[in-house]
Amino acid sequence: MTAIGAACAATVAALPAQALFFGYDQQAEAYKHQGDYAYETQNYPSASNYFNQAINVLPYDAYQAKSGLYYSLALADDVSGSYERATDDWQHAKECYDQLLQAAPSNPAAGINTAWAQEESGELGNLVNWRRTCDPSSQDYFSNINVRRWPANKFPLKVFVDESSGLGFGAGSRSTIEQAASQWVMADPTRLRITTVGDINQADIIYQRPQAGQVAQGSGGRTTYDDFVDARGNRWIKHAYVKLTCAAVDYNNMSNAQKNELYNLALHESGHAFGIDGHSPSGLDIMYWKSPLLRLSSRDIATITRIYQ
Ligand SMILES: [Zn+2]
Repeated sequence: MTAIGAACAATVAALPAQALFFGYDQQAEAYKHQGDYAYETQNYPSASNYFNQAINVLPYDAYQAKSGLYYSLALADDVSGSYERATDDWQHAKECYDQLLQAAPSNPAAGINTAWAQEESGELGNLVNWRRTCDPSSQDYFSNINVRRWPANKFPLKVFVDESSGLGFGAGSRSTIEQAASQWVMADPTRLRITTVGDINQADIIYQRPQAGQVAQGSGGRTTYDDFVDARGNRWIKHAYVKLTCAAVDYNNMSNAQKNELYNLALHESGHAFGIDGHSPSGLDIMYWKSPLLRLSSRDIATITRIYQ
């Protein structure tokens, strides 16, 4: 995920493992586990239902537990396509952090991490405000992102997928990554073309596994750019650097779920590499910040096509 300031939720980190604040409820925990399982097995409406049930059985002031549940609920509602409901969930999650901040001074023994709660509240507030300006049913999300372009004379873009032992991928993973990049090419084949190269010094787009600290916790990938701005304010890409975490170096040691995760991640980050600097607000697009998809949506296709039209 790239850092795109207020318009981006990617910096809302995964929740740290903290004890529930203001009480523990066994029934809520059970519902949460069922919700997590439903989410992992891509049964999102069911996940949403379980997270709602967990929230409903918790005491009203279990803000620590509820903040995490609203966060999970928001993701489940977003990827189900329930945009308005998800916006409300993100808002509820923000309010839980605000309640924690209010409670902190009179509960010094509770160990509330106020700096963290402050940051989450701010990020979620920005996210909710941004989402209210977005239309998830518009033909594309061009107006919701920052646009960068590859100059026309750079095509076909030279793609290098590292195979070194330190930062590289095994053969199966390399072809997975190349297939993901090709899906974007097929979205706009008259403009976008790629070719693979074996020399990193020749490459335009470079795929590697991250070194420690290069990818934010809770996020699987990151794309950064080397670019320049012309006199008219257009941003042109010179190089794109894509970091993808990978469950195993040897593709044969990966489960099907892990193979799909790599493909999903490569597809999302490749969207950044081709010029979509930012995220779709809709959970039905690959460029949603936590999309589980394995293919581009019509809005993803329309957006990349509009960038190069
Ligand atoms: Zn991203």
